[in-house]
Amino acid sequence: MERAAWLNRDKQVVWHPFTQMLTADEPLLIERAEGALLFDADGITFIDANSSWWVNVHGHGHPHIGKAIADQFTQLDHVIFAGVTHKQAIRLAERVVTILPKQFSKVFFSDDGSTAVEVALKMVFQFWYNQGKTKKRIVALEGGYHGDTFGAMAIGQRGYFNEPFEHFFFDVDFLPFPDKTHETEALAKAQALFETGEVAGIIVEPLVQGSAGMRIYSAEWLDQLIALAHKHDVLVIFDEIMTGWGRTGRLFAMDHCENKPDVVCLSKGLTGGTLPLGLTVATEEIYEAFLHPEKTKALLHGHSYTGNALICAAANASLDIFEQDETWANIERIETAHHHFLKELVQLPNVIDAAVCGTILRFEIQTGEGNTYFSDIRDKAYRYFLENGCLIRPLGNVVFVNPPYCITETELRKVYDVLLGFLKTC
Ligand SMILES: *Cc1c(COP(=O)(O)O)cnc(C)c1O
Repeated sequence: MERAAWLNRDKQVVWHPFTQMLTADEPLLIERAEGALLFDADGITFIDANSSWWVNVHGHGHPHIGKAIADQFTQLDHVIFAGVTHKQAIRLAERVVTILPKQFSKVFFSDDGSTAVEVALKMVFQFWYNQGKTKKRIVALEGGYHGDTFGAMAIGQRGYFNEPFEHFFFDVDFLPFPDKTHETEALAKAQALFETGEVAGIIVEPLVQGSAGMRIYSAEWLDQLIALAHKHDVLVIFDEIMTGWGRTGRLFAMDHCENKPDVVCLSKGLTGGTLPLGLTVATEEIYEAFLHPEKTKALLHGHSYTGNALICAAANASLDIFEQDETWANIERIETAHHHFLKELVQLPNVIDAAVCGTILRFEIQTGEGNTYFSDIRDKAYRYFLENGCLIRPLGNVVFVNPPYCITETELRKVYDVLLGFLKTC
């Protein structure tokens, strides 16, 4: 009864993201969360197998992050970040440049993944502009997702998600997704574009394209792409918003590469999923291109909540947890478990393209119909998983698991069993 009343109130006033409100199922009414578990208003438990849109890397309610936020509140909640600084932001920036490769040296704060990407684009375009060079083109990968603001949409996969806005998007050159059969073609296209001398930068989700369905590609290819870009004076942006924070088995996807990007976007797991924060980290060379007696050469960009002290405290606490051996033991444990389960999965007749990258396990369900985000199998699977105590949101016919690192062995086995259960019904 109580649940129905709340859901009715939700329906009156709330407009949910990525949701066709006319036909959507009732939302879950979640009341409490702990570790890898969510509890609804009736006390039913769900395993949060996608880490709540991939952000809760340490699970829910981690006491260390909670204490850091509470303590910070008694000191300083928020202060304007232009003309003012504070210790939590300074510590966070220092720590982030320390854990990144040595060429990264300056941290720009914003609010979420999309804004971190917008800032990266502005940095790259203005880097050339400030030097009086006409490099105005940007290259991205087909199938990419970089957020839902206009710049981020422009460099992402075009299609039904963005169609109403497409006439506003700036021109972008897209490379084919570099799966094994397109690696050479994608590099050749990159080379041809870079040789025009007009390309300011290239942006990629390194190693794994998240929203495209956790599509994995090779670090060697990425190394070649970076080398090619640098040879032609093209800046490289890594959007590590999803791949960062241990997801690929290392702290950052770039840790799998020899060559390093020039700009990196961080968000999602940065605060352990507690509060929103975006960081755009640049090399000293990029930063220096903005130093000039003229104010207009500065990066004239900012958001009201930039550098919020509570959020910085949460991020610092999340970094503490990444310094613990136990976190890395958990990441390794999940990766190993995924690899064992992969052996079971690949034997099923309706499973295709099953793969593991770090703590991400993904596979596609062979449906016969087109593999789109809106495919029926997606809704069937989503409902089945919920009925069986798992919150797993497939992308079309692609099912993936990227759990919080604190997920127990028993919980993870349950997730696998529920996946197998569904695969047997279809
Ligand atoms: C989620 C995501 C974004 C956008 O982040 P928001 O915080 O949702 O704006 C950008 N890039 C990648 C790779 C993402 O996974």
